[in-house]
Amino acid sequence: MKILICNDDGYQAPGIVALYEALKNIADVAVVAPEQNNSAKSNALTLHSPMYVQTAANGFRYVNGTPADCVHIGLTGLLGYRPDLVVSGINNGANMGDDTIYSGTVGAAMEGYLFGVPAIAFSQTEKGWAHIDVAAQRARDLVLQLAPSIEVLAHGALPTVAPWLLNVNIPNLPNDQIKGVKVARLGRRHAAERVITQTSPRGETMYWIGSAGPAKDDGDGTDFHATKQGFVCMTPLQVDLTDHERLPYWAQTAARLTQIQS
Ligand code: MN
Repeated sequence: MKILICNDDGYQAPGIVALYEALKNIADVAVVAPEQNNSAKSNALTLHSPMYVQTAANGFRYVNGTPADCVHIGLTGLLGYRPDLVVSGINNGANMGDDTIYSGTVGAAMEGYLFGVPAIAFSQTEKGWAHIDVAAQRARDLVLQLAPSIEVLAHGALPTVAPWLLNVNIPNLPNDQIKGVKVARLGRRHAAERVITQTSPRGETMYWIGSAGPAKDDGDGTDFHATKQGFVCMTPLQVDLTDHERLPYWAQTAARLTQIQS
């Protein structure tokens, strides 16, 4: 199995190092990751400035770009082959509910998925890297369990099998306190905290984006709930943002608009 590893916390983050160490013995692993912390960069691509790829002493390649840039560059030329799997993380903190829209960790995985490569985004639910080695082992276990599906996709044996995008959050717990793996939908958060304003030394007002809001929709069946119960939570994601449920409503509305105009 050939795996491309990326993250959004930067190539020196403990999470990507732990993930690399855990996966290197089960696959051919290449790391292409941002030079700097790119958390909350979502799927952003750098279109108006050139990027450079450099290689660190440990073999990790790093890019002065976003997580999605790294995967994009990796898949469209740098690697010179098509990986069987893109893995992103392990992120420093949760990517649950609305976080997934902003997350650079998810963005990196999604870039792989958009190229037809199955992809997994891994995050720890708390910041600070506690039990990161446990999280990395859990990530490795999951990749091993999914290996048959990855193999089928890699060989295109069944054209009906579509690649998948998984969002995985792992509680910062010792191994024996993690209960197992649960599949759950994304919850929702309250709106973010207020923006923080300060005055610069030159008298200008500076704005700092406030913290993400606390969980709002966190009942049974959500990622917030599963991880709080001590489970590794896995959420299959899709990229289609269409509001399918309300397509008929908008079709009717559009039809009325057309009548008014004519
Ligand atoms: Mn991050």
